[in-house]
Amino acid sequence: MSLTINAKKCIGCGICVQVCPVDALDLVNGIAVVDMEKCIKCGKCVKVCPTSAIDLEGYIKPKDTKPKKVVTAEEASEKCSGVWVLIEQSDGVVAEVSWELLGEARKLSKDLQAEVVGVLLGDQVEEMIPDCFAYGADTVYVIDDPVLKEYRTEPYSEALSMLVNKYSPEIILLGATTLGRDLAGHTATLVRTGLTADCTDLSIEQDTRLLRQTRPAFGGNVMATIVCTDHRPQMATVRPKVMDMPEYQKGSEGKIIRETIDIKEDDVMTKILEKVKEASGGVYLDKADIIVAAGKGVGTKENMKLVEELADVLGGTLGASRAAVEAGWIDVAHQVGQTGFTVRPKLYISIGISGAIQHLVGMQTSDTIIAINTDENASIFNVADYGIVGDLQQIVPLLTEAFRKKLSS
Ligand SMILES: Cc1cc2nc3c(=O)[nH]c(=O)nc-3n(C[C@H](O)[C@H](O)[C@H](O)COP(=O)(O)OP(=O)(O)OC[C@H]3O[C@@H](n4cnc5c(N)ncnc54)[C@H](O)[C@@H]3O)c2cc1C
Repeated sequence: MSLTINAKKCIGCGICVQVCPVDALDLVNGIAVVDMEKCIKCGKCVKVCPTSAIDLEGYIKPKDTKPKKVVTAEEASEKCSGVWVLIEQSDGVVAEVSWELLGEARKLSKDLQAEVVGVLLGDQVEEMIPDCFAYGADTVYVIDDPVLKEYRTEPYSEALSMLVNKYSPEIILLGATTLGRDLAGHTATLVRTGLTADCTDLSIEQDTRLLRQTRPAFGGNVMATIVCTDHRPQMATVRPKVMDMPEYQKGSEGKIIRETIDIKEDDVMTKILEKVKEASGGVYLDKADIIVAAGKGVGTKENMKLVEELADVLGGTLGASRAAVEAGWIDVAHQVGQTGFTVRPKLYISIGISGAIQHLVGMQTSDTIIAINTDENASIFNVADYGIVGDLQQIVPLLTEAFRKKLSS
């Protein structure tokens, strides 16, 4: 087996030099050259070369995952069908946003008369299939392979795009999590379609079957509705807690389609050496039932104690506006809003927060909202169930005391 480089085709980009695991490649006068004594003929350089300038005798290039042609909206209803949801899992635990999205997919599928499909990728994921049906999937596509044990962009996006190219879904929804954001972007590029990130609302335009994808734009000052007219699938990510959790229908059944992928561990360039748990400082805003949130109106870092005491008495978690975070009164791990966490607690108490749209998008779907503000025209009162107009320095200690008495009796 010999490796040759076609100097006429080589554009000197150096990608092959970067991927070579044994430093057998180098750029000389802007052209790649190979040291055959070092070369182990792994084929990685052949795979990445954008101009097919490298030839390795006997090497079969992995199948091109790109679609042969773009599917237009007109063809979509004939050729594409199904509302797909990526069932995101890590170490056997499914991210709750996947179930929320199955619920949303069910609503969208009613307008499209389409089936709801869960896409389960990973290693030893069989036991998660019944939950997919229980949360609303009609069909589950499963690729169960050791190469998918830990999330890595390359094998996951190749697996998902292989399914897309084979089954032509109309819509794919993914959680706007670290994994979902990465996978959605890469897959959309592979299958040559559009992607709308961080949607807060989804609906179907009846006459065109287009997915209307609404999200904050221009710094959150306007809500933009985006449609993907010429390409399929239509892809969107949605943050956790934005959509309702569907009811769990125990015992529901559906169709299981098992697929395989042609990717070997040696083909994957990224290796996981160690997993380090993120230090969240014990703040789990997205899981909290009660959040007591402080804004700039709190005035000083010392006054944050008032808010902390109320949170303590209620067994709640501290939240904050970005202005409070930027003032240095509280860590960014507590920030609620567009650039912070999206939360949906049973009770959200907003203290000295004006209610800017960038804050509201992160908390307005909370079950009950109580707002305390001196300004009776503050926007926070537009989303509040109960509003208290007054000075937080007087009101918060009274509330803390009243709750303390009530909860201890
Ligand atoms: C791209 C972008 C992303 C953003 N992301 C976020 C985000 O994720 N989260 C976020 O929160 N913001 C975000 N913001 C900032 C946002 O626009 C606001 O500036 C911010 O939310 C304001 O915080 P605040 O309500 O605490 O402060 P302010 O707007 O200053 O409001 C303070 C409020 O406290 C009231 N008040 C004052 N004194 C008292 C008192 N003694 N008692 C009771 N009430 C009192 C005032 O009447 C006022 O309504 C973002 C902005 C941009 C441009």
